[in-house]
Amino acid sequence: MEVAPGIHRVGTETVVNAYLVVEAGEVTVVDAAISGLYRELPRELAAMGRTIEDVRALILTHGHSDHIGFAERLRTDRGVPVMVHEADAALARGEVPNPSKGLGPTKISPLVRFLWFSAIRGGLRTRHVGEVSSFGDGATLDVPGSPRVILTPGHTPGSAVLHFASQGALLIGDAFATYAVTTGASGPRVAPFTADADEAVGSLARIEDIDADVVLPGHGDPWRGGVAEAVRLVRTTASHPSR
Ligand SMILES: [Zn+2]
Repeated sequence: MEVAPGIHRVGTETVVNAYLVVEAGEVTVVDAAISGLYRELPRELAAMGRTIEDVRALILTHGHSDHIGFAERLRTDRGVPVMVHEADAALARGEVPNPSKGLGPTKISPLVRFLWFSAIRGGLRTRHVGEVSSFGDGATLDVPGSPRVILTPGHTPGSAVLHFASQGALLIGDAFATYAVTTGASGPRVAPFTADADEAVGSLARIEDIDADVVLPGHGDPWRGGVAEAVRLVRTTASHPSR
């Protein structure tokens, strides 16, 4: 569905998100969610008046398995280049273990929903990415939408936020989430599976002054209340974990 002018989210649920950004008829995919979401790509592209032939690049916000889902398939079937921040390249290739240290607080029913959502879409069969090209902090990527990269380490060392200024959108991956897949809590908060929560919260100072109409997270609904307000709420919930 369309979540901002020129940006669609793949699929109807917001448990695990992948986004399509179109500019001048060409498409950048941001995050590859769970492998089974691949079969929903053609329909979502068609809703934008595009096809898989129009996809020029896949940008990963970070190297976690619930973001690299169909990346390898898109790369090998369609020759679409896959890009990730250099600090997460080894994670995306499956060469290093996940740096996150556990689940944190959980509630059974949302956690089961997440695991079930992932399992029926092939999340247990995720293939690592054979080849990735990497980018650094501050880069403006030469892909449709020309996003600027802001490194926000904490969730993973190479977690990157992508600012699509022409679309008025900030694609944040798991720099923070608006839905916690482990507890079902909604609203801006530190994402589950974050390796270093203090570092993740600290990194948000790097994005809080950005002016964007919509914030699009890896997990949860779009946030339209401004970046600064979202960051304020993440800080509040981080210092009062019961909220
Ligand atoms: Zn993640």
